Amino acid sequence: MESLTGKVALVTGSSRGIGRSIALEIAKAGASVVINYTNNEKEAIKTLEEIRKIGRAAIIVKADVSVYEQAKMLINSAIEHFGKIDILINNAGVSYIGLFMDMNEKQWERIINVNLNGVINCSHNVIPHMVSKKAGCIVNVSSMWGNVGASCEVIYSASKGAVNLFTKALAKEMAPSNIRVNAVAPGVIDTEMNSFLNKEEREALEEEIPIGKFGKGEDVGKTVVFLCSDAAKYITAQIITIDGGMN
Ligand code: NAP
Repeated sequence: MESLTGKVALVTGSSRGIGRSIALEIAKAGASVVINYTNNEKEAIKTLEEIRKIGRAAIIVKADVSVYEQAKMLINSAIEHFGKIDILINNAGVSYIGLFMDMNEKQWERIINVNLNGVINCSHNVIPHMVSKKAGCIVNVSSMWGNVGASCEVIYSASKGAVNLFTKALAKEMAPSNIRVNAVAPGVIDTEMNSFLNKEEREALEEEIPIGKFGKGEDVGKTVVFLCSDAAKYITAQIITIDGGMN
């Protein structure tokens, strides 16, 4: 197993779903974790309890990453508590399923603000800290739809496509400072984000996946741990797709 012993990782949106799985896998690999959420304190506490059971240190910071000042407060709180941030996982995200022509401005602004500006806000605040240490690792949680685009998820796809190019460009800018920036692009992962699917829709979707089933949060979490470890020290500016062969 890859080791992250002694590292401090901030995982945005880690109260539930993929973010919680990433936080747990990172903790299992030996790191201390900063858990972030925006609404669901009860679930964030569950993540905290699970990490403490593993025997790692963790704190919870409530912050809406789509708001620059809150992202700044999140990064500063983590550094105040643990003295540093070695790893930033930009995972917080929201989706919207429906025709683009039926969407209104408020709906697409929210998706862009959380999925793209949230990544920008947290990265912008953590980078000066990482530059001063000449070390750091950022992993953005994108989506396979950011690679290929999806009908009825037009703005979501656009937000994730932008995250992919933000990742590649930032990686090139930060490489001389020994900061690696990568993204993971999950396919269909079994979380609340897909809870709108009924049994028939779920089965139809599973048939489209060559591996034949939805992915699990831990599939994403283990890839993130690898990307943050020394085993990946020559890997930067990459988008790693985790989709069971779907795209
Ligand atoms: P989820 O189960 O809906 O969980 C979303 C998480 O993000 C929650 O912890 C939520 O906090 C947090 N969050 C939402 N808006 C936030 C904000 N403004 N500030 C801070 N935290 C915020 O979603 P998921 O399925 O785990 O998705 C996680 C990431 O993976 C997203 O970026 C998503 O686009 C991406 N992804 C998911 C799938 C999939 O199939 N599930 C596939 C590809 C990519 P609260 O609990 O407080 O609401």
